[in-house]
Amino acid sequence: MASGKDETHPTRREALMLGAGAAAALAAGRAAGQEAEGQPLIGNPQLPERPGNRMRWAVVGLGTFGVGQVIPGFANARHSRLTAFVSGNADKARELGARYGVSRFYGYDDYDRIADDPEIDCVYIVLPVGLHAEYTIRALDAGKHVLCEKPMASTSAECEAMIAAAERNRRTLGVAYRVHFEPNNMHVLERIRAGELGTMRFVSADHGFNANPDWPPHKWRLEKELAGGGSMYDIGVYGLNTSLMMLPDDTPVSVSAHYSTPQGDPRFTQVEGGLDWRIRMASGINVQGSSSYCWSPYVSRQRYFGSDASIEMQPATTYYDNTIRLEAGGPAREYSAGNAGDQFAAQVDGFSQAARSGEPHLTPGEMGLRDIRLIEAMYRSADADGQFVRV
Ligand code: NDP
Repeated sequence: MASGKDETHPTRREALMLGAGAAAALAAGRAAGQEAEGQPLIGNPQLPERPGNRMRWAVVGLGTFGVGQVIPGFANARHSRLTAFVSGNADKARELGARYGVSRFYGYDDYDRIADDPEIDCVYIVLPVGLHAEYTIRALDAGKHVLCEKPMASTSAECEAMIAAAERNRRTLGVAYRVHFEPNNMHVLERIRAGELGTMRFVSADHGFNANPDWPPHKWRLEKELAGGGSMYDIGVYGLNTSLMMLPDDTPVSVSAHYSTPQGDPRFTQVEGGLDWRIRMASGINVQGSSSYCWSPYVSRQRYFGSDASIEMQPATTYYDNTIRLEAGGPAREYSAGNAGDQFAAQVDGFSQAARSGEPHLTPGEMGLRDIRLIEAMYRSADADGQFVRV
């Protein structure tokens, strides 16, 4: 029925909200009948999956990283959605549940009941390292796929048990090496793979921060039972894993390492405060790195030296602002190849797709085991004053 109002014209409220130019365009569009007929679905063919078809995730451990990065990352996921939280703090879990539309809650005591919950396909373990193996194996035995935070576990024996549990239950196991999904690192890997650096001659990796024993997320990192190891486990593992990612056709043959823990520092009675390491690769090149709990400010630096060009990334493996500096003769070029914040959604989506298809995840349990074995070899070397250890 006619309202007596010119339906092609923006309302006063629309005009105020849109501004003069856009309001005129809206009027022209309505006059042309666009609003009445609408448009077919055009444009981006990569629509996110319908929520009902996505893989459903439980996050275990609602701490700094879980709440700060992992959970918000699901907002941009296309194949994954959050359905459950597992926490020792029921009030916190419910508060977060209200914010993220999550309505299924478990504690550590009734964790095994997830076996009966059809609304959980994948479990993301974001607990202290000493708890990774136990909670991963319990989730796998409950029939769920598991993405476990880095480093994979306290020992290589635990990693092996986790892999065996995945095989026994025919479920996918991944280690959350998010850098493999980070656009700047993916871009650098492409350049290296394309031969743009020439022959790789040397890789170096430095990662560290200053551990504060009074801050709960750092406190457990200084306790061997919960942390597994020291700076090399927690932060050095980024440098180790990222360096090996950039050398896809090469293999470690031996390692050597020295501790760099400051003498008499009361923080380091159980784990090392620093470790400097070197890996001899089968190709004959060396990968060299350092990790520390005694550096300020936070350091995250990767360097790749080739016969024709070199790339430095600083920061290299952070959440938001990774930067690439390419030197190939002439002025250096510093740039970003994408939004580092995308890595969190990309990682859970990559895992969801692997779990659904049965294909191996890009960063499988075997990769986590390899890295823990290398770190164990580094500790053996450092205990023997830097002796080379074959791996
Ligand atoms: P936090 O201490 O901030 O969080 C750990 C959470 O685990 C706690 O909040 C708690 O959650 C739960 N928890 C259960 N038992 C214990 C216990 N005995 N002591 C302490 N916490 C316990 O640590 P982070 O979030 O920094 O680290 C968690 C995991 O994430 C680690 O594996 C770490 O290596 C990894 N990580 C990965 C990063 C990455 O970039 N990939 C960055 C930072 C961390 P609740 O209260 O809900 O029970």
